[in-house]
Amino acid sequence: MTAKGAYLVDFDGTITTIDISQEIATFFGGTEYAKIEQMYRNKEIPIRKWLQLTAEKLPPDPDKLLEKAMEWAEIRPGFEEFLSFARSKERPVVVASDGFGFYIEPILRHFDLFEQIDVIYKNNTFLNSKGFFEVNTPYAHRTCHVCGNCKASHVVWLKEEGKRVTYIGDGSNDRYGASWADHVCARDQLLNYCREYGFAHSQWSDFYDIIKVDLPEQYDRSKDSLCEPRGSGVKVLK
Ligand SMILES: [Mg+2]
Repeated sequence: MTAKGAYLVDFDGTITTIDISQEIATFFGGTEYAKIEQMYRNKEIPIRKWLQLTAEKLPPDPDKLLEKAMEWAEIRPGFEEFLSFARSKERPVVVASDGFGFYIEPILRHFDLFEQIDVIYKNNTFLNSKGFFEVNTPYAHRTCHVCGNCKASHVVWLKEEGKRVTYIGDGSNDRYGASWADHVCARDQLLNYCREYGFAHSQWSDFYDIIKVDLPEQYDRSKDSLCEPRGSGVKVLK
């Protein structure tokens, strides 16, 4: 029987060359946002709180935000070839994003990539009755306060399906999902975390590098993971 693999892929700074949520926040969020970002970097607030506080600082104009997101969107080299490769190996590609989410489908459709992705787990940003942006997090853990989108739970679910999971990401918040993966393709801040925690990983620069990575064995990560998506969530916030 052919070994079954799957890819869990972050969106911002991974599929796209820049983190579009971060760019939107920096461009539209003003000095108030700078304080929020500093709190996040100091680990005083988790990403879920970052999303909530930052969304309130954005101008209540969805068209304007989407226009900017589309203007900045650039797909990292090799992504289309990677999708074809994954399909040829019958490995599902699951995209999971903990950003604002509203631009993901329009960007993927613009580049004619949307139909080639198996599942997308993302947050939703909407204008509330008071005229402020709010972020809805349908894939959050029921009690854990750290992530808006519990990527670790998506990884665990794929593993329970018998898949060997390769996690592809770039950001610091990817460390929770990555801590459950059988192999991590890491760049930027995620690479630092992989080195610090000793996750099985390889460094990547573009999606041509991912194609070269062998399918890993499946490992029990329950002891070494940073969180328990089937339990009470984050183990230690570090
Ligand atoms: Mg990212």
